[in-house]
Amino acid sequence: MDIRAAVLRETNQPLLVETLDLGPPKAGEVLVEMRASGVCHSDWHVVTGDSEVDLPVVLGHEGSGIVAGVGPGVDDLKVGDHVALSWIPFCGACRACHHGHPNLCQVYLPALWAGTMLDGTHRLTDTAGAPVHHLSAISTWATHSVVPAVSCVKMPDIPFEISALIGCGVTTGVGAALNKAKVHPGSTVVVYGGGGVGLSIVMGAMLSGAGKIIVVDLNADKEALAHSFGATHFVATGDGTDPVEAVREITGGVGADYAFDAVGHTGIESQLIATIGQFGTAVMVGFPKAGATFDIDPAHVIRDEKVLTGSIFGSAHTHRDFVHYAELYVSGRLPLDQLVTGRYGLDDVNQACHNMLDGAAGRGVILF
Ligand SMILES: [Zn+2]
Ligand SMILES: [Zn+2]
Repeated sequence: MDIRAAVLRETNQPLLVETLDLGPPKAGEVLVEMRASGVCHSDWHVVTGDSEVDLPVVLGHEGSGIVAGVGPGVDDLKVGDHVALSWIPFCGACRACHHGHPNLCQVYLPALWAGTMLDGTHRLTDTAGAPVHHLSAISTWATHSVVPAVSCVKMPDIPFEISALIGCGVTTGVGAALNKAKVHPGSTVVVYGGGGVGLSIVMGAMLSGAGKIIVVDLNADKEALAHSFGATHFVATGDGTDPVEAVREITGGVGADYAFDAVGHTGIESQLIATIGQFGTAVMVGFPKAGATFDIDPAHVIRDEKVLTGSIFGSAHTHRDFVHYAELYVSGRLPLDQLVTGRYGLDDVNQACHNMLDGAAGRGVILF
């Protein structure tokens, strides 16, 4: 079938919205009519070449839509189902899956890095007959996509733009607070980065009953939105303010119980560990450039028993957590409507990316 999709043919060049041919779903696959897709920094890492993905590729990995067809062997999904898509398909049978960490399943990584479906083949072809690569086997910046059934999570009746954001940014942030850090009531939480993931960490900290939530961002314009999600303090560092000192002051010299890096710029990691106090936990969430390294003082880790850890995709069990976050949205405990700050058509995808890079607060969403 003919579809329209945002194709990256060359790094650091604008995306081209093209007509492509999409093959039918094979065994274990689902055809999804896309309804909404978020715009995430991880897509931009492909545009800049920081994430090495074979080109051309259809980008987008934060999407939701309606099941429009199923391949052989798919019996738990049917035409008309509302699904949110996960960008980490898991096998259910490897060591990570058996130990309760499906977000760390590596069984399908070779196919995902190769830009193919899980069986190593392509469903996308351009008008010249050449194969076009898939991103995380879901390529959501397209009117339709063929995806693995295991990447589909059947969702309750919520807006598609909300279920799309649950497909990456919301789960990444809320899950880092709930699943990885397990934030305690009354504790102090610092979040570096007031974008979509950072605000999702704030929401997770609110759900956990954190006492103080301090957002650190270069851009002072993000303060009002951060407060609307529950931040009690905001530290703008664009004027050279030292966030470590600012947090020390706010916490009476003690330091924070938890600190999260939602940005991933090298340099923040060292601040992160200095921001927490004794027996505090620092969680790295944002991805720095490949190959980047950082220094920490071992004495901080040993003498103060600080913990430094990471969290990918919110340490999520997607089929459990996507539905939980949707239920929390319905009951008013996750104010996800406030997160959507820009809506675009597929043809405006380049503008949506530029607005994200310009530091637009919240999340931009492409609606189909
Ligand atoms: Zn993402
Ligand atoms: Zn597995």
